[in-house]
Amino acid sequence: MRKIAVLGSTGSIGIQTLEVIEKNKDIFNLDLISANSNYKLLAKQANKFQPKVVIICDSSKVEKLNKLIKNSKIEIFHGESSLNDFSKCCELDMVVTAVVGKSGLIPTINAIKNNIDIALANKETLVIAGRNILDLVKNNNSKILPVDSEHSAIFQCLNGEDERDLEKIILTASGGPFRGKNIDFLNTVTVKEALNHPNWEMGEKITIDSSTLMNKGLEVIEAKFLFDVDIKNIDVIIHPESIIHSMVQFKDGSIIAQLGEPDMRLPIQYALGYPKRLSNSYKRYNFIDSSLNFEKPCYKTFNNLKLAFEAAQKEGNAPCILNAANEIVVSAFLKEKIKFLDMTSIIEDSLNKISYIANPNLDQLIETDRLTREYTNSMIKNF
Ligand code: NDP
Ligand code: MG
Repeated sequence: MRKIAVLGSTGSIGIQTLEVIEKNKDIFNLDLISANSNYKLLAKQANKFQPKVVIICDSSKVEKLNKLIKNSKIEIFHGESSLNDFSKCCELDMVVTAVVGKSGLIPTINAIKNNIDIALANKETLVIAGRNILDLVKNNNSKILPVDSEHSAIFQCLNGEDERDLEKIILTASGGPFRGKNIDFLNTVTVKEALNHPNWEMGEKITIDSSTLMNKGLEVIEAKFLFDVDIKNIDVIIHPESIIHSMVQFKDGSIIAQLGEPDMRLPIQYALGYPKRLSNSYKRYNFIDSSLNFEKPCYKTFNNLKLAFEAAQKEGNAPCILNAANEIVVSAFLKEKIKFLDMTSIIEDSLNKISYIANPNLDQLIETDRLTREYTNSMIKNF
């Protein structure tokens, strides 16, 4: 039995992970779950799966959670520090990092230091501190298995290959709800329109990131670190159907792709079961009566993608600045404090204003994150 923790069990990835675990009860045991504040769903999950440990970050909800959990043997912890130190709570083989944004950073580092394998959904962690995380992985006995569908695809394409034969990674993008639209159109889009993704149902933050193409930008950085490739060897291509989840081109010109219906349970299941492929009865892709299309992304209209490539090229603390500024502007856009295109101009401004550090240590990255948030918030006040 593989003993699993799901951080962010009440979110889109978390809920789908629990579904995968439930379907494979004979090989997976859910030992720890966590949420930020959704105590009702967390209690429901605890009563159903009977994990050893439940963590709620928002301490004001712990009493309500306690009342709803029926088994007194389940240990309940609360506060951000409990999430950061989750590995102390019970013995674990794997953690699914399905929390959103920067909140995944310290728990991921903690997992690596404690030699727990990571099924990584929380891409922001690799964007903030990719180089530092890679170094930690090299010095410990923990594996990172990608959950992001594109990275799971690349990981599968590279299976059994010599990584020196890799020529380039071709990262596919759906293009989001505003594919093909121009700047004038983007000037007027509403939160509701941005939250309406054509192919995937996801949490709010990543849905907005998909509409601005920042999600693809974060994924470019995630791929650079996960697969240790030069940024020049990563291409982004728009593929509106989201059937090809990404591809790898080798030095002989061969391209290997991974295809399937857009369903996050697939990459989740692959990461949890790795190196075994588990069976399921999810919908199969049918080549007849369907078509696969491709377009070039417009870097001029979707400036975030350009900013992400630039930050990836610069490395140092630049991706950390990009991520922190993005988290703040997305949250402000969702609250209707700023308009759609303000997001990218504020991120660009933050990247120009916050001091660049070429080889930051973790403390310097945490400080960069703090300073960027402070600066970005001050910019938003002027809007
Ligand atoms: P959701 O917003 O749906 O869920 C986020 C989860 O994290 C919830 O359980 C939430 O708890 C918890 N959480 C939120 N903020 C905090 C915090 N500050 N501290 C601790 N816990 C917190 O997000 P998604 O599931 O969509 O995304 C999760 C991660 O996976 C992101 O990094 C995203 O980029 C990545 N990802 C998601 C995909 C998807 O299809 N959804 C695809 C590929 C990657 P609560 O419910 O209490 O708020
Ligand atoms: Mg993805």
